[in-house]
Amino acid sequence: MNLPSKEHMQEIVSHLKSADRILLLCHVSPDGDCIGSLLALGRALLKLGKDVSMASEDRVPANLEFLMEPGEILRTEEVSGSFETAVAIDSGDLGRLGDVGTRLFQQAEVKINIDHHNSNPHYGDLNLVEAGRAATGEIILELILHLGLEIDAALAEPLYAAILSDTGGFRFANTTKDTLSKAALLVERGARPNFVSRQIYENKPLGYFKMLALAFKRFTVVDQICYTWITYTEMAEFGLDFEVSEELSTFARMLENTKMSLVFKEKEEGLVKVSLRSQNGYDVSKLAERFGGGGHKQAAGCTINASLDEAISLVLAAAKEVGQQWTG
Ligand code: 5GP
Ligand code: MN
Repeated sequence: MNLPSKEHMQEIVSHLKSADRILLLCHVSPDGDCIGSLLALGRALLKLGKDVSMASEDRVPANLEFLMEPGEILRTEEVSGSFETAVAIDSGDLGRLGDVGTRLFQQAEVKINIDHHNSNPHYGDLNLVEAGRAATGEIILELILHLGLEIDAALAEPLYAAILSDTGGFRFANTTKDTLSKAALLVERGARPNFVSRQIYENKPLGYFKMLALAFKRFTVVDQICYTWITYTEMAEFGLDFEVSEELSTFARMLENTKMSLVFKEKEEGLVKVSLRSQNGYDVSKLAERFGGGGHKQAAGCTINASLDEAISLVLAAAKEVGQQWTG
């Protein structure tokens, strides 16, 4: 099979209605969109009486734990048994499922790929890939409605969190009228906007602000590119998990008179995660792809096997070259 995108909505709906053992998987370094989408679809399928497992290769970040019940999402290494159907959620390519996640996905008889990344290569047997959507959560909401289910608070809140996360709190260029209508529907069905925002964006330990202060002090601007970095030893000194550094990119993109921002986050010695953000519709996903990553036009990422210094000089050189071609 491997047919392109949207026509697969009906096929996926009928397949899920008849399927029994279903495994839902999200991507490595899970974010609010994939965790919220995973929980909503998982809970919806449970309502239909399905045998459902939800799994994540990496730990769920602390600021998203409020969305789930204890034990509701397994780590992929804890998953046992075989699955008739596996669903990859919000994963722009197969490798984003992680090593164990990818193996579990490939072992399933029917592989479903639900995502909103433009670069998605349609790696499923059934693909529901809609790049125009702000969040995978938008697609999951429609899928649940197509499954004939009512949206209650247990589905609404994770979906609201998914959309809130991928629109940066309804601020990014991907926020459309439809995104806001969906958010309004979710609030009507029980999602609590202030509570969700407080959990996701606020409620931080003191070390978080010390980390931000250090990273802000390092902001450097060359050729309208803003970059900064944080090391893994610094994160440990501040008592922070790696995932918390992900939020730095939201701040770096705020700087005036810049075309793009690069945030270098050392995961461990010799392994650097880079978060790329652009302004004015410029495309950073191509730049991330050069380093084996991907993402959206205005928000992309990649992970580089190199020292922090090497990663900075490599990506910065490429960014300067690409940035020079961006005019207007
Ligand atoms: P972030 O910088 O917040 O981790 O990611 C920004 C966007 O790029 C997200 O949509 C994320 O899914 C995507 N992304 C981040 N890292 C990678 C990567 O290594 N590969 C791919 N294909 N996409 C990535
Ligand atoms: Mn997403």
